[in-house]
This record gives sequence, C-alpha cells and structure tokens, in this order.
Amino acid sequence: MTDTATITHDEQLLIGGAWREAASGRRFDVTDPATGEVVGSVADADRDDVSAAIDAASAAFPAWAATPARERGRLLRRAADLMRERSAAIAAVMTAEQGMPLAEAAGEVEYAAGFLEWFGGEAERIYGQVVPPSNADKRVLVLRQPVGVTAAITPWNFPAAMLTRKLGPALAAGCTSVVKPAEATPLTAVEVCRALIDAGAPAGVVNLVTSSRPAEVGDVLMSDARVRKLSFTGSTEVGKELIRKSADQVMRLSLELGGHAPAIVFDDADLDDAVTQVMASKFRNAGQTCVCANRIYVQRGIHDAFRAAMAERVAALRVGAGTEPGVQIGPLIDDAAVTKVRRHVEDAIERGAELVVGGEPANGDRPSGGHFVTPTLLDGVTADMLLSHEETFGPVAGLTVFDTEDEAIAMANDTPFGLAAYLLTRDYARMLRVAERLEFGIVGANDGAPSVPSAPFGGVKQSGFGREGGDFGIDEYLSVKYVSIGGVAS
Ligand code: ADP
Repeated sequence: MTDTATITHDEQLLIGGAWREAASGRRFDVTDPATGEVVGSVADADRDDVSAAIDAASAAFPAWAATPARERGRLLRRAADLMRERSAAIAAVMTAEQGMPLAEAAGEVEYAAGFLEWFGGEAERIYGQVVPPSNADKRVLVLRQPVGVTAAITPWNFPAAMLTRKLGPALAAGCTSVVKPAEATPLTAVEVCRALIDAGAPAGVVNLVTSSRPAEVGDVLMSDARVRKLSFTGSTEVGKELIRKSADQVMRLSLELGGHAPAIVFDDADLDDAVTQVMASKFRNAGQTCVCANRIYVQRGIHDAFRAAMAERVAALRVGAGTEPGVQIGPLIDDAAVTKVRRHVEDAIERGAELVVGGEPANGDRPSGGHFVTPTLLDGVTADMLLSHEETFGPVAGLTVFDTEDEAIAMANDTPFGLAAYLLTRDYARMLRVAERLEFGIVGANDGAPSVPSAPFGGVKQSGFGREGGDFGIDEYLSVKYVSIGGVAS
C-alpha cells in the first residue's frame, strides 16, 4: 500500500517549452480526496501567464502547421508510448489527486494514451478533395487546414483522457494549444504535457496554465483574437457561459457538458450481463462520469431478479482509498460532491423511494478528511425526485419499473440532456429500433462502457456539441478552404 500523503509534487506552468513559475509567484495546493491532505502544489497562473501562453502557442503555430503530418503523428504515438511506460507513476499521481482506485487510474492512462495514438494515425489521413468541375475552364480544390491556436479547458473526473482527446486531434491537425486543467487535478495534466515534451513537442506547441482562477483564465482565452477554437468539458452552466463569451471573437467551440444517462433493462435481457453492464456504467469512477447511468428503467418482468442481483453487487462494492488493494469505489472529489449525493438520496427517500442498499453516512473508520459515500441502491424512483433530473455524480443507483417499450423511451428522452443512454436486450430488432429513437449522442447497447478513442464521443441537446474521438474528432480542429482555379482549359 502506498501512503499518498508521503508523495508530494511541486509543478510549474509550461509556456513556450519552459517550465516556469507564475509571473505573480503564486501557487496553490492539491489535496488527496481520500484524506484531505496536501499532496502537491502547482503554479497559479493569472491573466499575464495566459497571455504569455497564447503568445507562445501563436509563435509556434506556423512551423507546427507546416510540419509533415507523418512527423506530427509519430510524435503523438511516441507520447502515447511514454504515457504507457510511465503508467504506474502517472496512475499514482492521479489517484493521489483525484481519488480513483489505482487499477482504474492505470486504465485511464491507457485510455488517455489511446487518444494520442489514434489521432497520431489520423494526422496522415487529413484528406482534402478535388471537386469535379462544373465549368470546363475551372478546377476546385478543397483543403482542410488547422484552425490555429486552440484552447482546452478540462474537468477533474478523467484528468488525463479529457486532455488527450483534445490535445491529440489538435496537435495531429497542426494546431497549437493552451490547456487549462481543473483546479483539483492539475498534476496529472503536468504528466500528460511532460510526455508530449519528452516525445519531442517543439516549444509552444503545447502550453499548460494551471490556475485557481478559472473564470479569469477563461476570459483571457475567450477574448484573444488569436485563439480560434475552444474545446471544453465540464458543467452545462459554465458551458453556456462560454457559448456567450465565444460570441465576441466568433470562436469555434466544442462542448461536452452534463449528462443524465438512462439505462433501459428489457425483460429479455441477459440478467447477469445486464447487471454487469449497468454496474460498469453506474459505478465507474465512483459514479463521477458524465456517461454514468443516472436513471435505470427496468421492465416489470425482470424487475425483481434484476433488483436482487444489483443489491448483491452494490452491497459487495469495496469502498476506500484508491491506494488500497481491491478497492472499487474511491472517495468523491470534494465535500460539495458528498453533500449533493446525500441530498439526492434523502430527497428520494422523502418522496417515497425504497432504500435497498447503503444510504448511511460513509466515512466509517476511514480518515475524517476523506469524501466517501456508501454505494447505494434505491427502488421505486419517480420522475419528481432529484435523482431523476439532476446529474448525481456519485455511487447511487435508482430503479424505476416500466411496462412498455414506448413508455421506457418516453421516460428516457424526457430530459434536457442527451449524452449517453444504455439499453439491455437480446432482441436485435428491438435494439436497433430503440437505439434509433433514443435522443442521445452515444448509445451503449448491451455495453456499459462504450467510450473508445476510435468512436465519436459527444452529445445532443444541452449535453453540448462537437465530437471527440474517431475521424469526426479531428474535424473540430480543421477549417475547410476551397481554391477555385480558373483558366485551366485555355
Ligand atoms: P465541474 O462541475 O466538473 O467541476 P466545471 O464546469 O465547474 O465543472 O469545471 C470544468 C472546468 O471548467 C474546470 O477546468 C474549471 O476550472 C473550468 N471553469 C470553471 N468555471 C469557469 C469559467 N467561468 N470560465 C472558464 N472555465 C471555467
């Protein structure tokens, strides 16, 4: 067992290829959510540092855009290899600041490296077009070119992958980037940037501004005409604010905002597999993912068996510090997260839900500074409960019974969010029919973990727009230009 309190990491900003302190000299601490103890500190950027980072990204852009795609791709694949070689060390940093179990953190490193690798390949496939002429005298060439300097603002729940799925396509496309990670998880972001630098990223191609002042950093990024695109993953509230601010520079955006995923379990589902997939979706990262099943609709015929099997699996989940062997549910990120989850559980019980497993306060004999929540299963969840319309972001599963396919689809779609949805069935016609009718960007059909670098992750409705991953992912970082050539026939 590693004692995370003994690990300390003191890191700096990365601007123009140099690691350096903030101009103000300020720093801020990073704490372990399992203990509340300080595990490191980082430089605290303010507007001057962000402007310097944009200067560096802007200066680096022409040469990087002109670097052959094959070379850009190789660099990304080298960085992916370095992340894999350093997996144990990066996972330890991630667990120390984010709380997820070490094994899950190692999985996250692999997932994150996968985006660099995937987009490393895509760099060489940024094809244009030659359009058949509508006039014998003309030819039209369509070019796809890097948009320019890009910015990335990322959350704390997947501190490596949320960064690489922005940096991978940006760098593959020939863009340079200024990255601002979440305040809670800046150390993992340092590790990702270090892998890129060690893989040979030229000065200024990637710049990292850790900061405890997100709104100030955001304002500088959004008001600088040199920044041509922002990719943001985070809350719907901040996303809407960034949409408003993007108007000033008419900045391109991709936004991955909140989710409120339904999982629909049909009578004909394979019971064991359905439970496994719903558990995977619901309890991954202690329920702190935007694709976590937040509403579980169970058809009447399978309800009792499904509930019994879920109860057994939820009760068996091991809660603890992510550094303890065998732990499946780490701490939540902070106190506010614990309060929100407890409010959801209390509200559901007050409104008539049945507490099947868990529910009690969770610290037990764990460190008093830790943000732990007991995995909880509720039944009889109804549409009026907070659980049914707010993202819980914690290890709480709520079941709702339904009778018909139409009823389940109507309930599933009855949300302003549209990121991920799940359905569990062995009937392939139903699978297709329901998948087509679900108003979400991602559908996991008998699949509780649908995210992979090669697929276009993203949402509809208030879950945002733009796609990350797959060949769609690189389009976000490219501008289309056509060149019309006249006088060809003469
Ligand atoms: P979460 O609920 O996941 O913490 P946030 O939207 O608050 O979601 O945070 C996601 C990212 O957005 C973090 O990097 C955070 O620092 C950043 N952020 C928060 N507020 C702002 C803002 N006003 N402008 C720009 N970025 C912000």
